[in-house]
Amino acid sequence: MNLRIPGPTPCPDEVLEAMGHQMINHRGPEFQDMLRRITENLKKVFDTKNDVLILTGSGTGAMEASVVNVLSPGDVVLAVSIGEFGDRLAEIAQVYGASVVRLSFTMGTAADPEAIRKTLKENPSIKAVLVTHNETSTGITNDMAAISQVVREFGKLLVVDGISSISSIPFHTDEWGIDIAMSGSQKGYMVPPGLAFVSVSQRGWEASKAAKMPRFYWDFGRAKSYLARGQTPWTPAVSIFYALDVSLERMMEEGMENVYQRHARIAQQARDGVKSLGLSLVADERWASNTVTAFKIPPGVDPGTLLQRLQSDHDVVLATGQGSLAGKILRIGHLGYCTDKDISLVIDALRSVLPKLGFQPTPSRARRS
Ligand SMILES: *Cc1c(COP(=O)(O)O)cnc(C)c1O
Repeated sequence: MNLRIPGPTPCPDEVLEAMGHQMINHRGPEFQDMLRRITENLKKVFDTKNDVLILTGSGTGAMEASVVNVLSPGDVVLAVSIGEFGDRLAEIAQVYGASVVRLSFTMGTAADPEAIRKTLKENPSIKAVLVTHNETSTGITNDMAAISQVVREFGKLLVVDGISSISSIPFHTDEWGIDIAMSGSQKGYMVPPGLAFVSVSQRGWEASKAAKMPRFYWDFGRAKSYLARGQTPWTPAVSIFYALDVSLERMMEEGMENVYQRHARIAQQARDGVKSLGLSLVADERWASNTVTAFKIPPGVDPGTLLQRLQSDHDVVLATGQGSLAGKILRIGHLGYCTDKDISLVIDALRSVLPKLGFQPTPSRARRS
């Protein structure tokens, strides 16, 4: 199956095989070695000297963990949202009692750093800024370098959802001064769902000491003290650790620069392919994501039938739109274990199925005037 959704993503055979390992004592020496090795490799992926914690849970667990570990009820936070995942982070903060100032941007565009600056100027009580690096619902990557510069000017705590970008799109935790950065195993890591990763800066630790939101399972302080002993506070998803150990070695062998370049090349191929069919991208291409490409379903084409025919006739699985974009768009995931060939098969499948559903793609290699 050509599983082209933005997580879970396909896994290489050697990663799947690693998960067949017999269980071990998660408080014993083998796990300790593996946890230390994985943590060191994750620091390279996050490009950080900060602590990196590994949590058993999905990406949303890391989002909730990030909020409850650095905030107190009543804290004013700025939630910058360019789509579904930005809204989710805002909602989590709200559920736990933060006073959320929302700054939302039109779907398909990136956050404007100047608008963030203006909002921070107008609301001096803001304590932290929550922002999505790569918005998976629309296929947009925010300019983190520019945004982090603004947030640092004001000295605010910066919490970044890099769940669908870190490991696939350049991400520089320390250079950008990101206090909390999070990611998840089933996105660019070529590993099944089950683990989430969070980096915590010195300022992040100070915030966590003062933070009053309730937490137990997700407590960063406990995770740090157990990590010092080569353990996790609670029983970890051991099989996913085995998978991650192998996949991170693969990534280190390929080299992060090469991993990023491969994602950039394949993403360009996906966008060019979609446009060559006469379909429209959701993203303003200036900020188009290198991990997911969203396109509009042409008028008259039934989204359910399109997805079904792509799968039944071509073994291609794409992702639907979320929230207000449900039924309006489809998304192609091209993160993690993905080749040029995987994407050309997606474009070929669309070229074959769309005419049967009433949309005539632009003929192959045609020039449009
Ligand atoms: C997938 C994703 C999440 C949520 O992760 P889950 O593992 O589904 O809980 C959050 N943010 C972004 C940007 C994502 O792509």
